[in-house]
Amino acid sequence: MIIPVWGGNGTLVPLIQSLQSFPQVREVIISAAGLPPNVACKVKSLGAIFVESAEPNRGLQLNRGAEIASADWLLFHHADTGLSSKHVAALAEVDSTNTVGGAFYRKFDERHPHLRWLEGFERWHSRAFGTFYGDQSIFVRREHFLKMSGFAPLPLMEDVEFSARLRRSGKIRLLDPPVESCAHNQIQRGAWRVTLRNLIFLVLFRCGVSAERLHSWYYSIDSKDAVKVAGRWQKRWQAFRQPIDPEKSRVLKERWDSLPDSLKLPNQISGRHLTHCGFILGASYCSFHCTHCYLPKNANRVPIPSLADVKEQIDANRRFQGPGGGLQITGGDVADAYWRAGRADELVEIVRYAYQVGVVPMLMTHGQTLVEHPEFLRRLVVEGGLRQISVHIDMTQAGRHGFPINQVKSEADLHPVREAFTDLAWRIRYRDGTQPQ
Ligand code: SF4
Repeated sequence: MIIPVWGGNGTLVPLIQSLQSFPQVREVIISAAGLPPNVACKVKSLGAIFVESAEPNRGLQLNRGAEIASADWLLFHHADTGLSSKHVAALAEVDSTNTVGGAFYRKFDERHPHLRWLEGFERWHSRAFGTFYGDQSIFVRREHFLKMSGFAPLPLMEDVEFSARLRRSGKIRLLDPPVESCAHNQIQRGAWRVTLRNLIFLVLFRCGVSAERLHSWYYSIDSKDAVKVAGRWQKRWQAFRQPIDPEKSRVLKERWDSLPDSLKLPNQISGRHLTHCGFILGASYCSFHCTHCYLPKNANRVPIPSLADVKEQIDANRRFQGPGGGLQITGGDVADAYWRAGRADELVEIVRYAYQVGVVPMLMTHGQTLVEHPEFLRRLVVEGGLRQISVHIDMTQAGRHGFPINQVKSEADLHPVREAFTDLAWRIRYRDGTQPQ
């Protein structure tokens, strides 16, 4: 028996324990991606064979499990599908001389109590030409499975693809008693919603949308991110209905009305229909000494403003620009200044506060400090919520470690610095699920 698993699964250990009472089940193979180490240990201690995959891909996981299986029949079983001695006995009776594989009928459960009368039709449909889904516990003769080259390496819909080939390849059987999967999650999420979603995904797959893309959609909808996704769509819908926030319209009108006629151009967009960006002076400091720096000579002697001062600047910007205005955090290299002053916490708070009051902060930086102290960038992104960074890297800059200005002969010489920064941003994205821009 091969059981694919992704991440933690509360039904896995009880299932393996229950299988110990079925002598017909020769091997239990758990083909897992991201199984918590304590569960993996438990699985092994129960005598199951454990195969680990780096990434969740059900088709590949099932194939990996099948590769090491040695029994004549393979049963691909989901951890949240129940299996009783009657199921095992039904399997043991399948005539291997004239059957290549099949699946169990599926039991209608409390997901759709009003549809139980359809069960007869569903049974006929499954038998005649329906798809065998993974939660119907597909079984196949090992030799035949190898001849079919196993499952397609798809992260989702591998059962749909496989069952079509299995049907065409020989005599199949549908077995009783029907199997039943744990309906708890579906009922919590809404049975009709889940059914409709599955149907849409099936249609999209048949229309040619890739299984990889469907997999990423499926799990972003399925996970706790669902609330976030719903919120995003709500905002989009609101933006469609009312493209310009009423407060923003008012602020823009006030700005426009206050201009003398000589400065009003008929086709002007910026400042009339949208604001571009304002800025706050986070610090007048930079450890570089570039040829064309705009900072005054005494910049590095100017103290960093207090947090209260900076918040006042943010508030003033918010009043002037209305909601959603861009806000550059600048005045030199702010990351550099706050890090060297031992006030990293304050910069994180400045970013967080800007979002809180409704403006969108962008950090202006030469990037050196953040590349050398990646934890600082991670905190700005994760704790502060920073999504916009403008990183200035060019050959007029003096002071970049490892790249003396007189040795940098072309912009291409600085590509390693750019790559180091983009690598850092990607690492933060993957580790924390955030997306710096
Ligand atoms: S990196 Fe920017 S702020 Fe710093 S010295 Fe160069 S030009 Fe000036």
